[in-house]
Order: sequence, then C-alpha cells, then structure tokens
Amino acid sequence: MSDASGKVALVFGGSRGIGAATVSRLAKDGHAVAFTYVSREDKANELVSAITAEGGDALAIKADSADASQLRAAVVKAVERYGRIDVVVVNAGIFRMATIDAVALEELDLMLNVNVRGVYLAIQATVPHLKDGGRVITIGSNVAIRTGSPGSSVYQLTKAAVAAMVKGIALDLAPRGITVNNVQPGPTDTDMNAGAIEMLSKMSPLKRVAHRDEIAGLIAYIARDEAGYMTGASLTLDGGLTL
Ligand code: NDP
Repeated sequence: MSDASGKVALVFGGSRGIGAATVSRLAKDGHAVAFTYVSREDKANELVSAITAEGGDALAIKADSADASQLRAAVVKAVERYGRIDVVVVNAGIFRMATIDAVALEELDLMLNVNVRGVYLAIQATVPHLKDGGRVITIGSNVAIRTGSPGSSVYQLTKAAVAAMVKGIALDLAPRGITVNNVQPGPTDTDMNAGAIEMLSKMSPLKRVAHRDEIAGLIAYIARDEAGYMTGASLTLDGGLTL
C-alpha cells in the first residue's frame, strides 16, 4: 500500500468488477476517488458506502462512456468536488461475442463507442485537469495480442486500438511528466465472465482466472510515484494465456 493522501483518482466504469476493485484499492491507498457508472446505481452506492465506512472518500457519477457530453460532465463533477485529478483510470468496457457474419451495425458502433471512442474522449476530457506528473491508465485486454476463439473480432480490434492509442497519447503528454499506460488483463472473475469461469480456468496455464484485486494491484502500482519512468506500455496479466 502507498500513501496517496491528498491525491485524487477518477475511474471511468468503477461500479463493478475490475473497476470497483480499482476504486477500492486506490481509496485504500489514500486517494479520494470519483468514479462513473452507467446502469448499476445500486452497486455504485454500495461502493461509496463501503469506502466511506472505512474512512475513505468516494463520489459516484452517472455517465455513459458512449456519450461525449456525459463524459465531460463527469470530469467537471469530479473537479468540482475534489479540485484536482492526479490519476485517471479508463476501465469502462463492454464485450459482445459474434462472428463477423453476425455482427450487427448497432453492436459494432456501440463497442467502438464505449471501448475506443469513449476511452479517447475520457482521457481528452480529463487531461486539462490532470496534474503534471499524473497518470493515465487504460484497461485493454490480452485479446489485443491473441483471441484464440471466433466471435471476438470486434472486441479484439477495440482493445488493440487502446494499446495503440496509449503510445501516441504518451508522447503528447510526456512534456508534462504524465505517463500513459495500458493494463491488459486476461480472463478475470467479474460479471463479464458470468457462467464461463470454469471453462476459462481450464484454458489457463495457471488453471484459474485472475482475481480482480490482482488487476487492481497493478493499476495501483502504476499510479504510484515510483512507476514514473514507464509510459506508452501495455502490460499483460493473463496467467500465461497468450504465451
Ligand atoms: P464488468 O462488466 O464486470 O463491469 C463493467 C464496468 O464498466 C461497470 O462498472 C459498468 O457500469 C461500467 N460500464 C460499462 N459500460 C459503460 C458505459 N457505457 N459507460 C460507463 N460505464 C460503463 O466488466 P469487467 O470488470 O470484467 O471489465 C472491466 C474492463 O476490463 C473492461 O474494459 C473489459 O473489457 C476489460 N477486461 C475484462 C476482462 C475480464 O475477463 N473480465 C479481461 C480483459 C479485459 P455499470 O455497473 O453501471 O453497468
């Protein structure tokens, strides 16, 4: 754990799964944490209560990552409450499977809007408020390297786009000492994999999926001062699945 007292994190998509584990971990490390959600107000409120009960400070904001104006409004609300942003984690993402013959235009647009355009716009909206020396952390996926199964082409292309965008944004923000890195989890114990954990565990060299706290642990490390020399990187934690 580190002492991030006085620092503020903003997590896009923080109400469940990897995002919620990240919100909790960053709060434990001392950050005040604002986070967005799109549908699960119940989960968002539960998380705020849990953090508050432990003496932390959290703010839940409803904002759809597919909507540019809602993303901008979320950043404004976080800054109004906390006055600064030191770390932004862009976690919101969706996963829909279909082979290319079955991908509907609406599904293609939605995945591009949330997983690619939403990531870029969330970073763009936050950058003017981000402290020099701050952190931008995206959540990609190991499928950017290898999917291994049909039906993942759209998801794969969105996550490969995230891995590519952090390189260019890292160069844009380097003069301000802001690092930009991408965490690429493999299968993790979240709602996104409901019903598939046993099958995914069998595929893994480690014979298990990741625990969401293991992903949050790497995110917490990147947020710390000691990680300040790494930028533009995509870091894969997938139990060896893509080896
Ligand atoms: P979950 O489905 O468990 O949770 C998704 C989170 O993102 C929720 O907080 C959800 O909010 C939020 N979210 C979804 N869509 C939007 C949106 N349009 N606007 C704002 N927030 C949104 O997902 P995971 O925790 O499993 O995944 C998190 C990230 O990690 C994703 O980017 C995913 O692609 C990536 N990933 C996940 C892996 C896995 O195995 N689980 C593996 C590799 C990468 P709400 O609760 O309101 O619905």
